[in-house]
Amino acid sequence: MLLDQQYLFAPGPTPIPDRVKAAMNQPMIAHRSQEFPKLLEDVATRLMPVFGSENPVTVLSGSGTSALEAAAANVIEENDVVVVVVAGAFGDRFASICETFGANVHRLNIEWGAACTPEQLEECLQSIPKEIKAVFVTYCETSTGVLNPIKALGEVVKRFTNALYIVDGVSCIGAVPVDMKEWKIDILVSGSQKALMLPPGLAFVAMNDEARAVIRNCKAKRFYLDLNRYLASYETDKSTPFTPAVSLIYGAQEVCRMFEEEGFENVIKRHLLLKEMVREGLRAIEVPLLTSDEDASPTVTAVRTIDGPSKQIKKLLKDKFAITVGGGQKKLKGEIFRIGHMGYCTPFDVIKVLGSIEMTLKFLEGKDVLGIAVKRAEEVWMEHV
Ligand SMILES: *Cc1c(COP(=O)(O)O)cnc(C)c1O
Repeated sequence: MLLDQQYLFAPGPTPIPDRVKAAMNQPMIAHRSQEFPKLLEDVATRLMPVFGSENPVTVLSGSGTSALEAAAANVIEENDVVVVVVAGAFGDRFASICETFGANVHRLNIEWGAACTPEQLEECLQSIPKEIKAVFVTYCETSTGVLNPIKALGEVVKRFTNALYIVDGVSCIGAVPVDMKEWKIDILVSGSQKALMLPPGLAFVAMNDEARAVIRNCKAKRFYLDLNRYLASYETDKSTPFTPAVSLIYGAQEVCRMFEEEGFENVIKRHLLLKEMVREGLRAIEVPLLTSDEDASPTVTAVRTIDGPSKQIKKLLKDKFAITVGGGQKKLKGEIFRIGHMGYCTPFDVIKVLGSIEMTLKFLEGKDVLGIAVKRAEEVWMEHV
């Protein structure tokens, strides 16, 4: 096989469009030049509709976790009471970060594979007699392929508390709708290497004015990730406090252009189609899915291997077909594999991954499923063309 034909269906990093690669190859500019402020302002404002933000989006250099850490480090003071919805590995990470910064963390544990319901959150918030500083929720829980009902959960947060509502959108922003004002989100964070079609290395923080006020008054120690520095540099001369990942920001500018050309509404619709094709295709060959249709994310699908196809499927997909999928994380290790279908991904790509799964099942289990998942996915696609 052609070694440079590798098919990346991990739930991050994701494939990079050629024009984004070309944009990242532009000559380097100094970040204290006249050009850089124009670039940064362009990206920070063009990302606003993608984040559903009324303020320009703050750009950090670091992986997605740096934005999660920034959200916690700039809000939490020692012994603050916070609630973290833990429906998988990334909710668990958000909780650990909050613990690291000295918060009194209440974990709302949700069964892995399901979404948090507004009733579950309400019950949790009502059971805590103290003032809650912040509620942290993962929009797409990448480890299970679940999309939490961020709008409905925001209603609950603001009805029962005065807490900030902080959302991790790393594996779905750029592929799903979001409206910070209407959904009552105070801080929304994301990373570059998932639905935003960029290499790893940028992190994004969108903050409303209430969140900015809390961050300004927060006494906790921080330096590199002190969001006040980023906000002040942007305010004064559209710059960053430290050397930014200039090439990646050029790439982000091209991604914004691509979103605008396709139309962001159409980007969202494309992801819904990809999800439906993957799920319907797998169902047609009786491969069990981890999540219900209602809870399923348009960006990543988790497939059960414990009562379904062999655990070797991930290795065979790679060895025979150069297809990379994700494995299970933490308590789902060995029990699932995950197909990422976000960012630079088309219905044709879904046909590729489904066809390879059919052939792998034939290899592994002698199951005669050739063409069946692909046919079903094509039928779904045809309803939309
Ligand atoms: C990928 C991801 C992160 C960040 O991970 P990094 O490896 O630091 O980029 C955080 N939250 C979610 C939901 C993710 O999918």
